Amino acid sequence: MSTQTAELQHVVQFSGGVGSALSALHLAERVDPNTMTLLIADTKAEDEDLWRFSRDLAELIGVPLTTVSDGRDPWQLFRDQRFLANDRLALCTKHLKQIPCRTWMQNNAPPETSIAYVGIEPTKKDRPRAAAITRNWAPWRVEFPLLDGPDRTKADLLDELRERGLTPPRLYEMGFEHNNCGGACVRAGQRQWCNLLDVFPERYARAEAEEEGIRTYLDKDVSILRRIREGVPQRLTLAQLRREQEAAS
Ligand code: SF4
Repeated sequence: MSTQTAELQHVVQFSGGVGSALSALHLAERVDPNTMTLLIADTKAEDEDLWRFSRDLAELIGVPLTTVSDGRDPWQLFRDQRFLANDRLALCTKHLKQIPCRTWMQNNAPPETSIAYVGIEPTKKDRPRAAAITRNWAPWRVEFPLLDGPDRTKADLLDELRERGLTPPRLYEMGFEHNNCGGACVRAGQRQWCNLLDVFPERYARAEAEEEGIRTYLDKDVSILRRIREGVPQRLTLAQLRREQEAAS
């Protein structure tokens, strides 16, 4: 019987954002980079600078990117599922990110010898997410490299990236809270969609057309956004939001 102990595998669930990038950088200081994996799910909707940043990080720590993909973008998924996702139910995260990453783990990283690392940012808002993430990743052990330290702001985290020689993904400087799905995230609120309209009008136009297409396809009054008016919840389509922004400017 062999007495050899399998080497631990350290798999960073890399999103392309500042939290998971710093998690990878911190981890690379305490484990052999040869035992690390930078696992990222391609949603086919990412900003091109996410891939520049990902390559820079991979080169800096000497760990190649491992990319998985469902193959669809969020809009194709919504049509297939006959459901327009929103901030209450973002099924795109499950299908385009969680399932591909978990499938890779099942095929390549046995739970007995692997640890998953998740880059939750050390803020009062994000820290409570750790418990549910740990439950969802069972049977894998999960660690959150940034949660050991004190609370930090996004600006502080971005500064650390720069100090370590990385140019942060451009979406942060363009006013987006997260570097995901090119700024056109169904979980974002009205403010981010208005920012998308200003910064990337062509992306907004695509999202607006896709939302209208799905409304027609499903023959239903659905929308990504909603708002409360005089205490009553209302649907708010991207077309309506754009018209209101144009009228106000
Ligand atoms: S970033 Fe937003 S749009 Fe993209 S998969 Fe996640 S929830 Fe969906």
